[in-house]
Amino acid sequence: MTITKDIQAIDSAHYMHPFTDHKSLAAKGARIITKAEGVYIWDSEGAKIFDAMSGLWCVNVGYGRKALVDTAAKQMLELPYYNSFFQTTNVPAVKLAEKIIKLAGDNYSHVFFSSSGSESNDTNLRMVRHYWTTLGQPERTVIISRNNAYHGSTVAGASLGGMGGMHAQGGLPIPGIVHIEQPYHYGLAPNEDRDAFGIRAASWLEDKILEVGADKVAAFIGEPVQGAGGVIIPPKTYWPEIQRICDKYGILLICDEVICGFGRLGKWFGSQLLGARPDLMTFAKGVTSGYIPLGGVVVGKRVADVLIDKGGEFNHGYTYSGHPVACAVALANIEILESEGLVDRVLHETGPYLAEKYAELAKHPLVGGAETCGLVAGFVLMKDKQNHIAFDEALEVGMICRGHCFANGLIMRAVGDRMIIAPPLVTTKAQIDEMIALIYKCLDATLLDLKTRGLL
Ligand SMILES: *Cc1c(COP(=O)(O)O)cnc(C)c1O
Repeated sequence: MTITKDIQAIDSAHYMHPFTDHKSLAAKGARIITKAEGVYIWDSEGAKIFDAMSGLWCVNVGYGRKALVDTAAKQMLELPYYNSFFQTTNVPAVKLAEKIIKLAGDNYSHVFFSSSGSESNDTNLRMVRHYWTTLGQPERTVIISRNNAYHGSTVAGASLGGMGGMHAQGGLPIPGIVHIEQPYHYGLAPNEDRDAFGIRAASWLEDKILEVGADKVAAFIGEPVQGAGGVIIPPKTYWPEIQRICDKYGILLICDEVICGFGRLGKWFGSQLLGARPDLMTFAKGVTSGYIPLGGVVVGKRVADVLIDKGGEFNHGYTYSGHPVACAVALANIEILESEGLVDRVLHETGPYLAEKYAELAKHPLVGGAETCGLVAGFVLMKDKQNHIAFDEALEVGMICRGHCFANGLIMRAVGDRMIIAPPLVTTKAQIDEMIALIYKCLDATLLDLKTRGLL
């Protein structure tokens, strides 16, 4: 087959990839993914790979869903596009907004649509500041976020996020955004009682509010479970305490549900599981299972009532806000999640099963801090876990492990030395067994490799 080499050459010559060092990519050539079905993808050399990352946390109903394809085709013929700017609307956008509000619950009344998670967080930033200005408190502008958070890659999204590497390029974060430490128990205080640590980690929000001045803080933003930061699952005490602190100072709570929303944690939204009542919820990814781009913000009544009653025109929106094809596909995707009972299955069956398997995996000599929540999971590769000694970052042990995963037919992502998965919500127990067997195989290969290289 020459298609691989040909496409790789053109890829290097013309395609600038996201989050990629092109010099090192060109040296080995990109892997060309050519087809997919269920939980598997195939590359141009015919290798079959278990996609334990659901693409990029999004293909929740699995690949090859004809119902989504047919819905898109039908909607494209009927009305491929129209905007919602000119006092106009369209049926799929209206029906999807109604459906999402039903899933979100009584606290919410409206949905603002975008095409991605990043755009939705830009919307959040402008919406919360417009909210406070409308209420006569324009000095409330500061948004508090967390280190290692991921809120997207636009200027506002990357600024809200807490990734040092992203802040280092392009003069970020923009003013008015500050960060506190993340609630990473295993990484920051493994010997402290987990629940006590959760309360202490939440107290950093209160410290920051007092430092900034409570009357200057507009909102706190956080992912229910931090995803791209390495699947950081907070202690169960954390979110209720964060909620209490937000309430105490009257500041808005934004939950970025781009990964956790639409069933990943076993509830329609992660905040419903973890004990928060956000005023705004960001969504994208799983809303369409990635078949077509769509994102948005679920707006709580507290904010919507003020903006609609007194806010006047919100001078903000996107050409593709409420795109009829994307909204129709989202409705069909939610229909699949409901009719196949996938969200409940994560809560009661596959989530607990994965948790059991990860508890066993924790005994592997390389594995520290193994944790799951619904169908996300992570662990960190440790040099000497008895004495809590990590590998030297410069060794990029996570990347070594990821290489062994790729070679053995498994997509598992490395965030530093944290190895993370987020398999499709359709993954069966038998497929979880298959995935876990692959993980053991890759860990053993990594262990052998590290010993051979003299790193252990
Ligand atoms: C992926 C992600 C985003 C950004 O979404 P895009 O569609 O890539 O813009 C924002 N927040 C979280 C939590 C994400 O995981």
